[in-house]
Amino acid sequence: MRYFICTHCNAIISYETFCPSCHTSLNRATIKQVNLCPHDGTPVPVRSQLCTTCGSRLGRWYIPFWAWWCIVFIVGLLVTSLLIFLHHSLVTTYQQVSCVLENTAVTTSSTKNGTSYFLDFTYTVVGKQGQQVANGEDNMGLEGSFSSQDDAQQALDRYQIGSTHPCWYSPLAYPHVLHLKPDEGNTSLGWATAWLFGTIVVLILARWCIVRWIVAPWRISKYGVKASGTVVDHEAFKGRVTTTIEFQTQTEPPLTCRTKQHDLVLQGGNVLRHVPHLHSKVPIFYDPLHPGNCAQVFIRPSRWDAVVDMLIGFALLFLLVGGGGGLFIWWAFLFR
Ligand SMILES: [Zn+2]
Ligand SMILES: [Zn+2]
Repeated sequence: MRYFICTHCNAIISYETFCPSCHTSLNRATIKQVNLCPHDGTPVPVRSQLCTTCGSRLGRWYIPFWAWWCIVFIVGLLVTSLLIFLHHSLVTTYQQVSCVLENTAVTTSSTKNGTSYFLDFTYTVVGKQGQQVANGEDNMGLEGSFSSQDDAQQALDRYQIGSTHPCWYSPLAYPHVLHLKPDEGNTSLGWATAWLFGTIVVLILARWCIVRWIVAPWRISKYGVKASGTVVDHEAFKGRVTTTIEFQTQTEPPLTCRTKQHDLVLQGGNVLRHVPHLHSKVPIFYDPLHPGNCAQVFIRPSRWDAVVDMLIGFALLFLLVGGGGGLFIWWAFLFR
């Protein structure tokens, strides 16, 4: 958000054409664009980099929005190419070997649409020198299903018990044994799209997680500015209360912030304990660098609340990046 100073009344405003403080219309000559000091919110003229209140220097660390999207896309492409490379390397781990069929069977699967019949093999994988490499019991990558027991039995008759068939074995990729050589071309195109979009979604969620759960609580507990808010609205719905609090920051116009109180109960239809009453005054803590961001407003900004929020943030980040990354790498090992 961009901020300006009204030269008529010195108010810090977020409008370019009208000052809500002295009610005059403005033009380029009567406003000055300013940056806010990240420590105390003091307006600092764009050309100057020094805050006169706290003496700290304003860095140029701010990443523009379009640059952030470029980074997300580049990282997405990078992760996708690495996973495609992994997938293509794993297809070469499939070696042609022989599979001796120990037993064959028709298995059934019933759904509400009817019964489907599948082929099932119990087999031993034999290497080039005749050594036993592995054994298993599955469909050997033969995905097809049959609508009748007779059709399935007819297909199964091509696989005599005790017969030897060429098959493909990989100790790393999954499934370990395939009847036909896996075709990497088809799988990687579909998965490359899924990996690219998946990585972008993970990065967007990770950024939200860092901003909402780690940076915002840390900044509020360290630099949070206390303001007095007034409860202007209460909405109770299914035991959850949405409180609308209006408060004045160092900038104009006054902000309205909505907080959701999830942990509260309703008794007899009245809004309860811990919930501030309508028209009552509540303390509000906001980030002086982002006074216009209602998501970064907290009612209780103690150090412990910040620590709890940050722990939640790190746990979410770990789940997102670890879980997402693990899932994507697991996909690279699959050949189906
Ligand atoms: Zn003004
Ligand atoms: Zn300052």
